[in-house]
Amino acid sequence: MPTNDTQPSSNFIRQIINQDLEENKNNGKVATRFPPEPNGYLHIGHAKSICLNFGIAAEYNGACNLRFDDTNPEKESVEYMESIKRDVHWLGFEWTELRHASDYFEQLYDYALQLIRQGKAYVDSLSAEQIRQYRGTLTEPGKASPDRNRSIEENLDLFKRMRNGEFADGQYVLRAKIDMASPNINMRDPALYRIRRAHHQRTGNDWCLYPMYDYSHCISDALEGITHSLCTLEFEDHRPLYDWVLDELDTPCHPQQIEFARLQLEYTIVSKRKLNQLVTEKHVNGWDDPRMPTLAGLRRAGVTPKAIRDFCERIGVTKQNSWIEMSVLEYCIREDLNDNSPRAMAVLHPLRVVIDNYPEDQTEYLEISNHPQRPELGKRAVPFAKVVLIEQDDFAEMPPPKFKRLITGGEVRLRGSYVIKCNEVIKDADGNIIELRCSYDLDTLGRNPEGRKVKGVIHWVSEQHSKPAELRLYDRLFTVPNPDNEENFLDVLNPDSLEVLTGCRVEASLADARPESRYQFERTGYFCFDAIDSVDGKLVFNRTVTLRDTWEKGTAL
Ligand code: ATP
Ligand code: MG
Repeated sequence: MPTNDTQPSSNFIRQIINQDLEENKNNGKVATRFPPEPNGYLHIGHAKSICLNFGIAAEYNGACNLRFDDTNPEKESVEYMESIKRDVHWLGFEWTELRHASDYFEQLYDYALQLIRQGKAYVDSLSAEQIRQYRGTLTEPGKASPDRNRSIEENLDLFKRMRNGEFADGQYVLRAKIDMASPNINMRDPALYRIRRAHHQRTGNDWCLYPMYDYSHCISDALEGITHSLCTLEFEDHRPLYDWVLDELDTPCHPQQIEFARLQLEYTIVSKRKLNQLVTEKHVNGWDDPRMPTLAGLRRAGVTPKAIRDFCERIGVTKQNSWIEMSVLEYCIREDLNDNSPRAMAVLHPLRVVIDNYPEDQTEYLEISNHPQRPELGKRAVPFAKVVLIEQDDFAEMPPPKFKRLITGGEVRLRGSYVIKCNEVIKDADGNIIELRCSYDLDTLGRNPEGRKVKGVIHWVSEQHSKPAELRLYDRLFTVPNPDNEENFLDVLNPDSLEVLTGCRVEASLADARPESRYQFERTGYFCFDAIDSVDGKLVFNRTVTLRDTWEKGTAL
């Protein structure tokens, strides 16, 4: 996989901008915007758009606004707006200006009056259902509404009365007067305004009339002096409407809409509607559940903003829709965490090891160092004492071939510590192993025993010094690569997407873990401290990603 960490790779959008700059279009200015609708949390797909819009602005010394596309009050909330601002900042970007489509409600209304005066818009009394029927199909032209030739005066009067609240919701709509026979259905007199008595979080009850996306978006872009309006491919067929509105009206400028392929990531979904359903039906624990592809979820899982930015750079920007493998994202996450996360030891399924020849009340602080490139991330003093805990599966009574770890009568090295030998296995009445009795070799600290080959190295913690912890092992949310293709995406939820391990033990130093600090737990994976759920002395860690790709083709579930 090609990497290019410093220089953003070129793409067709940058080529268009370079060309525009050469021709001194827009007076050499570059202005973009990221226009989320505040009806849910941002997801990894939005990250692609954020990195593109803010990245281009930064690269060309231009501007990038964060604009809330808040024209659909019933579905929008302050919580969503706050989360969006938080997530954009977290990803590492700062907007030039914070705007809202609702800032322009008055101007949008005036522009609508202008269209009516130009004979380019009319008030229609057809119901939503009738409008659908009149619209025609891909093969048949649409049919004109009886109201299409209403006089300009009457249209002006009705539209003003729509605003004044004289009509019921749905009684009238304002439509653009374009072409009912257009091969592009979006151009068959699309709705511009509808009556909706809904409380708006910013404009309160001032309006009972709300503009449609295709109408408000292009004008908002023009009012903000956006030069390049970047959006996803499904808006390609809306571009003629975008241009029509701006051509008909006398707006400050006419931004260029450019479409790119939306991010589709395997084993997850990036539709806010479906993500919302997962949250409201409690298939996950909220928008920031670490299994969610939301930025809040990825963050809580321990994914770094840098890993997401690298991912967006790596997948590039094109006009071809394609599915990106989850392993690409995981690769970026591992790269960053491998380089930058401190090492620690955690035992997931503890097995007690008593070292019979070790002094009863002694504690040694062993200097452990296991990040050769960045010693400061690996170096620490780890307490060692008579009773240590190891992973249950690092011991085998009946070892499979090539088993290099501890066996009865065999030796193994405790990472950064001594070589121990297992002398006896203690079992309960049912035959379950409850502890191992071992001995240690004082001469083996930091060097290999002479004449004996000890191949295995296992991790451990001191029973007395380690802290109890809950480790949450997260896995993919879906069992199939393209859950969107299923009749019901809920049918392919992965029932094993979360395994909660209680009774784990972690290095004592982790008791002071700071919120969101990330670690590589040796041999087990990358984990992030969950300060929110770590209450009453319980330490909770979320697994960000395994150390290696365990989902390589053929090994899935
Ligand atoms: P969703 O389908 O999740 O509801 P949306 O397009 O309705 O997405 P918006 O809040 O309108 O969500 O999106 C804000 C911006 O993010 C838009 O410019 C949109 O094109 C872009 N965006 C949304 N999803 C993706 C994606 N999967 N890949 C790239 N860009 C995306
Ligand atoms: Mg949208």
